[in-house]
Amino acid sequence: MTTQLKCTPQIIETTLRHLREGGEHDVETVVLWLGHATAEVTQITEAYRPDQVATFDRFHISSEAMRAVMAHLRKTRAKIVAQVHSHPREAFHSAADDEWAIVRHAGAHSLVVPNFAEDTTLNNFFDQVAAYELSSDDRWMHIELRTALKLEEP
Ligand SMILES: [Zn+2]
Repeated sequence: MTTQLKCTPQIIETTLRHLREGGEHDVETVVLWLGHATAEVTQITEAYRPDQVATFDRFHISSEAMRAVMAHLRKTRAKIVAQVHSHPREAFHSAADDEWAIVRHAGAHSLVVPNFAEDTTLNNFFDQVAAYELSSDDRWMHIELRTALKLEEP
């Protein structure tokens, strides 16, 4: 059963801006979607770019940067809902992405944006982005983003 995510267009715009900035330097970028969950819906409230070291096809978040993420979560009383990251070319969940450890709870989402988000916009976001959800037996399942994520007006 897929968790229903909700966000404003602004969250997506901010995310794409971060990913494109990395793309201008030919590096991947990861943005964390933070939010609050109720029984019915998970509301995404912030697109948060953690401090990171990135290369053409990989990114790394140091333990110090991770502590800063956790401090921010305590302050905002939010949790990590999804990781959104860019790839140089195709959007898919790579083996390296599988091992990545921040977002590991069942129901967590992972979104992968192709071509460093160069030509990704709010209008084609749902066509271009590959989306995954972590199953209760710890496997990333490909999901239909249109079903999982609903846009709402700010
Ligand atoms: Zn990746």
